[in-house]
Amino acid sequence: MSVRPMGTPLSVQEVSRGELQALLDVQRQACRVQPMPGYQDRIDRLNRLSQALVSHKEKLIDALDADFGGRSRLVTEFAEILMPIENIRYIKRHLKRWMKPERRHVSLLMAPASARVHHQPLGVAGIVSPWNVPVFLTVQPLSYALAAGNRVMLKLSEITPHTSAATRRMLDEAFAPDEVATVTGGVETARGFVGLPFDHLLFTGSTDVGRDVMRAAAENLTPVTLELGGKSPTIIGPDADLEAAAERICFGKSMNSGQLCLAPDYVYCPRDKVDMFATAMRKYFVRMHPYLNDNPEYTCIINDRHERRLEALLEDAISKGARADVVNPANEKLDERRMPLIMVFDVNDEMAIMQEEIFGPLLPVLGYDDIDQVIDAINGRPRPLALYIFDRDRKTVRRVLEQTHSGGACINDTVFHIGIHDMPFGGIGNSGMGAYHGREGFLTFSHAKGVFRRPWINSARLIYTPRRRVADWLLQLFVR
Ligand code: NAD
Repeated sequence: MSVRPMGTPLSVQEVSRGELQALLDVQRQACRVQPMPGYQDRIDRLNRLSQALVSHKEKLIDALDADFGGRSRLVTEFAEILMPIENIRYIKRHLKRWMKPERRHVSLLMAPASARVHHQPLGVAGIVSPWNVPVFLTVQPLSYALAAGNRVMLKLSEITPHTSAATRRMLDEAFAPDEVATVTGGVETARGFVGLPFDHLLFTGSTDVGRDVMRAAAENLTPVTLELGGKSPTIIGPDADLEAAAERICFGKSMNSGQLCLAPDYVYCPRDKVDMFATAMRKYFVRMHPYLNDNPEYTCIINDRHERRLEALLEDAISKGARADVVNPANEKLDERRMPLIMVFDVNDEMAIMQEEIFGPLLPVLGYDDIDQVIDAINGRPRPLALYIFDRDRKTVRRVLEQTHSGGACINDTVFHIGIHDMPFGGIGNSGMGAYHGREGFLTFSHAKGVFRRPWINSARLIYTPRRRVADWLLQLFVR
C-alpha cells in the first residue's frame, strides 16, 4: 500500500476513572467559584477558541491527513476550520440576546406578578466526539457549551490519534483545565468518561454505542443529547431535474468518501430513469475526482477495519443477487483504503447494505413506480438523521416531508443543512435525540429556570385563609 505519509502511529493511553473524576472535581470547583460567567467572559472563551483554530489550522490539516492516510484538504478547510469559525461568529452575534431573561405571560389569576425564564449554565458538560469530522464535531458542541457558560470536558476519538493529539494541544494551549479539559484515550477511557456525573452529556457517534452511553448516563440521571447515525434516504421525485440531482448527490456522497453521518445512504429513483441517473452519477464522479490514487482531494477510508466492513457489505449484497457498478475514473489499481464510488443495483431489505449505515462510498440505487411505496418503505425503517428529496413539484416535496420523519432534510440538495447555523441539528429515534446548533445549541447547554416574581402587593393573600366567598368568586370566574 502506498498511501500518503502517515507519521508514526500514536499509542492509545487510557485515562483512569480516578483521573477523570479528578478533572471533573476541578471543573466543579470552578463552577462554584463562578456559577454564572458573564457575557464578556463567554465572548473571551469563544474568541480564544476561534483564534486557536486559526493558529493551529496547518497542524490540524496535517494531523487529519495523517489519520486518514489522505484527507481532502478542501473538506478539512471548509468543514473542520471555516465552519466552526463561522459558527462562533454567528453565536457571538446572538449571544447577548440569548442570555437575556425572557418575559413570559402571567394570567389574570396570578396578577400582579411577573414571570421570566432565566437561562442558567448547567455546570460541567461532557462531550464525546467521533472520528469522521473530528475537529468540527468537537469544536461545534464546545462552542455552544461555552456560550451557555459551562465548563467542558471532552473525550476525543481514538480512531484519529494524530488529530486528537493536535486538537488536545490546541485546546490545552487556549484554555485552563478548569475551563476546558480534553481527554484522549481508548474505549476504556470513553466508558469511564460517560459514567461521570456530568450536568449534561452530548455524544456524537454510532447508534449502538449511543445506547451504552445513555445507559451509563442514566445511572447519574445525566441528561443526554445523542447525535447518532443512520441510513439517510435520498428520493429523486418523478419531476426532478435528474442531472442536477445526480451532481448534488454525487458531491454529498463523495465528500469524505461517504464517511459522513449525513451522506446520502441510498437513492430511490423512478424506475425508468435509473440508467440515466447512473450515467449522470458516473459523469459527475469522474468530473469531481478524475483519479483517486494520490489525489489530494479524495479522502481515504479511515482504516483497514472500515475498508473490510465496506467490502463485506458489498460482497453480501452481490452474493444475494445485487449488481455493482464501480466508478474508477482513471481505471487505476487502487491503493488500499482508496475506495471508488460503487453504485449497487437490485438490492433488497435482506441485504446488510440495506440494514446497516453504510458510511462509505457504496450507494444502493432502488427503482420505484409510485412515490407512496417509497414513503411506506422509509417509514418501515428506523428514523434517519436526514432525508433528501429532489423534485420540482412542491406538492410532492411537501407530501414527502409531512409523511416521513427524519432529523433534518434538504430539498434539492444533500448535506448542506448542517451548515445553516440558525437551525437546530439533531436526529430522531434511532438517529438520536435532542439537538444543537443555533439557539437550540445554547438552550441544550442551559437550564431554563422559570422565575416568578411577586410584588409586595400580594393578591394571593385573598386565598391564604379559607375565605370561601373570594375563592367561590374566582372559581366561578375561571372554571367555565
Ligand atoms: P463510535 O460510536 O464508535 O465512537 C464515538 C465515540 O464514542 C468515540 O470517541 C469513542 O471513543 C467513544 N466510544 C466508543 N465506545 C464507547 C463506549 N462503549 N462507551 C462510551 N463511549 C464509547 O462512532 P464513530 O465510529 O467514531 O463515528 C461514526 C458514527 O458516528 C456513525 O454512526 C455516524 O453516523 C455517527 N455520527 C453522527 C453524527 C451526528 O451529528 N449525528 C456526526 C458524525 C458521526
